[in-house]
Amino acid sequence: MNIQLTNTLTRRKEPFEPTDPKRVTMYVCGPTVYNLAHIGNARPPVVFDTLFRLLRHVYGEAAVIYARNYTDIDDKIINASIERGVPISDITRAVEEQYEADMGALNVLTPTLRPRATENVPAMIAVIEKLIANGAAYVVPSGVYFAVAGDADYGKLSGRSQDDLKAGARVDGEDDKRSPSDFALWKTTAKEGEPAWAAPFGAGRPGWHIECSAMIEEGLGSPIDIHGGGIDLIFPHHENEIAQSESAHGHALARVWMHNGFLTMDKEKMSKSIGNIITPRELLADGWQGETIRWALLSAHYKAPLDWSDDLLKQAQASLDRLYGAVLRLKDVDAADVDAPGSVVEALADDLNTPAAIAEISALATAANIAKKPAEMAKAKGELLAAAALFGVLRDDPEHWFRASFGDAAAEIDRLVAERVAARAAKDYALSDKLRDDLAARGVEVMDSASGSTWRRKG
Ligand code: AMP
Ligand code: ZN
Repeated sequence: MNIQLTNTLTRRKEPFEPTDPKRVTMYVCGPTVYNLAHIGNARPPVVFDTLFRLLRHVYGEAAVIYARNYTDIDDKIINASIERGVPISDITRAVEEQYEADMGALNVLTPTLRPRATENVPAMIAVIEKLIANGAAYVVPSGVYFAVAGDADYGKLSGRSQDDLKAGARVDGEDDKRSPSDFALWKTTAKEGEPAWAAPFGAGRPGWHIECSAMIEEGLGSPIDIHGGGIDLIFPHHENEIAQSESAHGHALARVWMHNGFLTMDKEKMSKSIGNIITPRELLADGWQGETIRWALLSAHYKAPLDWSDDLLKQAQASLDRLYGAVLRLKDVDAADVDAPGSVVEALADDLNTPAAIAEISALATAANIAKKPAEMAKAKGELLAAAALFGVLRDDPEHWFRASFGDAAAEIDRLVAERVAARAAKDYALSDKLRDDLAARGVEVMDSASGSTWRRKG
């Protein structure tokens, strides 16, 4: 299987060739565990989860090592910990748990490694010491800085020139750095009572970029095969990760850099600072199912912007209803034990073309809907379920799926369906037809089969 991925570094779609097919490594920048993640923040973990699933399919489950970190050192977290007089972990652990629950609802697999910044400070100090020793970084009273001017290929990921960067914004408390474009590896400005880690170059705390560089080195070793994140991380975060790691280790940090486009609302980036955010848990509380949210997030190609709306969710739900309807029709058929069909794997292998994969999965549902012979039905059901598993959907029991989306009304529908079954048994066809019409008016279609009556939302 030939996987092609667009590499931000070369600006081209390229064949993906891991350094070692028995040990494929991927790192994705994870959440800052201070606030609840919004649905825009959920786009990278869902996109890269789909890539993780594809890589496991191609190279084998045990061969893929995927790390997604927790950024649990951050000014807002530190300030809150001082104000409330509690350790950082009291603030971050609860947010981590909420994040895991949200990701679980979206069928995001647990990454192989989930390093925390707070647990990798010695590795950060080690990288910084290397950079000081080889002259790539310097120590001043406010901290340790990376000297951008000394790094000839700085800017290669984002395409920014050193001249553009000299106009960098002034940062409070960093007056003693040599150039505005230099960035902090370590901040030795810890005040009394602030959490600080001891280091040979002064007690303090790490900068954000060095956290990822060190966690990659510690957890995976470099070069890694794939490094991912949202498009807003290209500069400065990923540019700086490259500068630090490559200056310290003398080889590439990552071979392929992948970036997802923004999730927008009314064409504006969803972000906490603009305030136009919706969280996965709000959507779940409104009755949308996790798989519907996942399908909506994957409905556009990962590089393209995705405009979030209720209509998008409704379309995603209608598509999934169709798939669940096909599985429900074959409820009494044992699915054949087959692999995900090549058409779906190939769509995903083509730079994670999720819209094409969605079209292929929908075609499998059509095949399942028209299959008549037992062997055809078993194969169609098996192929649909295997493709859906690769994509991270159709995990639910189909009857439960339809019930769940009707919320409290489901019990009433169950009662009407049972009444109709009784009416039919009593040969009261007038009542049975009336009940069918009542149910249709509620958007419910009853499906009668040898094993009884089931229902689903009308397509
Ligand atoms: P943050 O919590 O802002 O650091 O973001 C965590 C992750 O979500 C990063 O990979 C960001 O690139 C990504 N991200 C933030 N906002 C959006 C958005 N509106 N659309 C897509 N990705 C986003
Ligand atoms: Zn990062």
